[in-house]
Amino acid sequence: MKLHGSMEIKNDELYIGGVNCLDMVKEYKTPLYVFDEQLIRDNCREYRKYFKAEENGNRVAYAGKAFLPGYMCRLIKEEKMCLDVVSGGELYTAHKSGFPMENIFFHGNNKTREEVEMGVEYGVGKFVVDNFYELDLLEEICEREDKVQEIYFRITPGIEAHTHEYIKTGQIDSKFGFALVNGDLYNAIEKLKEYKRVKLVGLHAHIGSQIFELEPFLDEVDVMMKLVKEIKENYGIELTDVDLGGGVGVYYTEEDKPRAIKDFCEAIIDRAEKTCAELGMEVPHLVIEPGRSVIANAGSTLYTIGSIKDIKDVRVYVSVDGGMTDNIRPSLYHAGYECSIVNKMNGDTENRVTIAGKCCESGDILINNVAISEIESGDILITTSTGAYGYSMASNYNKIQKPAVIAVKNGEITPVCRRQTFEDVLALEL
Ligand SMILES: *Cc1c(COP(=O)(O)O)cnc(C)c1O
Repeated sequence: MKLHGSMEIKNDELYIGGVNCLDMVKEYKTPLYVFDEQLIRDNCREYRKYFKAEENGNRVAYAGKAFLPGYMCRLIKEEKMCLDVVSGGELYTAHKSGFPMENIFFHGNNKTREEVEMGVEYGVGKFVVDNFYELDLLEEICEREDKVQEIYFRITPGIEAHTHEYIKTGQIDSKFGFALVNGDLYNAIEKLKEYKRVKLVGLHAHIGSQIFELEPFLDEVDVMMKLVKEIKENYGIELTDVDLGGGVGVYYTEEDKPRAIKDFCEAIIDRAEKTCAELGMEVPHLVIEPGRSVIANAGSTLYTIGSIKDIKDVRVYVSVDGGMTDNIRPSLYHAGYECSIVNKMNGDTENRVTIAGKCCESGDILINNVAISEIESGDILITTSTGAYGYSMASNYNKIQKPAVIAVKNGEITPVCRRQTFEDVLALEL
């Protein structure tokens, strides 16, 4: 198992942020999400530095869908990051935590009337408009509220990137954005002539998530810059911003060979400068929206091992006290993870077992056929890199309570979310 951020081994036991995992479990029970606060901050700082946020006025917006309790809103505000939200709930979280609304990008392919109203009322910085329906709604609501709203158009650039089908978004056949192929982007720009309340200032595209190749991102830069030039020439609209969507892919297992944030950012900035020079235009302000690469490696999940079932010559099932309710990614995308036993970090790893969850689904398997040290019931298992799309996708399936969340740094624990109680789970029933 790869050690991320502040993880270290002392006397065979695993520490994160200077805190022994066994002590965390004693106080907060399992399952438990643990976040390495310094690693989150370091990732934010890397992005801001190498994406030239200070130098060029570029912006780095954390994609809140990856993990967004109020704690994260406050942290990324401190780190001078912007924020992407995709729903009324995420917007409400940011608003309640005192996040500056002008630094928010409001995404979503089907924002409801209530959500558009909320965004306009709160005064979010940019609406990333996905479709004609939203454009009409936004104009109508801004008219009523007597406001002018800056917007980007989300486009589907027709770029295929190598990643899982469910997290691929830039291809022609996509539910997201205005397509280029059918002329919808140009129809939308034409339509702007009828509108007085929406002001187009930029373009946005997001080609997908967990992408390791650079080429699709660089192609995206080229497509976007050419569009900015074309729109100026053909419509006289000067776009100041280009938003390139999500960040670099991350390490989950040895199969993943991620690029450093630095290399990823530098490659994009270089390409933007080169392409713009060739096109004879100024480089627009660039925006990037990393979610996974800010938070994935900073999060881990601790479980208690219960049943161990040895089906001779077939498989050993090791069951933990969580599963698809706190980490749906293995069932949803066949995502891989690494694990270890936090109280036996130096044990040999001859055993091969399958880590199963406790839900009533055969598909509730966290890790298939993984090498691990000798284990017994009661041991504490850690799965690493569960920070992104773990808690944010958690459910109450089987009426299982959502785990608690803590952050650790310099030997101290900050509670982030308490564990749900049975009463919480029933709270909605009338
Ligand atoms: C999901 C998403 C992101 C974040 O992608 P990551 O791969 O987590 O960095 C950014 N922008 C948009 C519009 C998204 O939908």
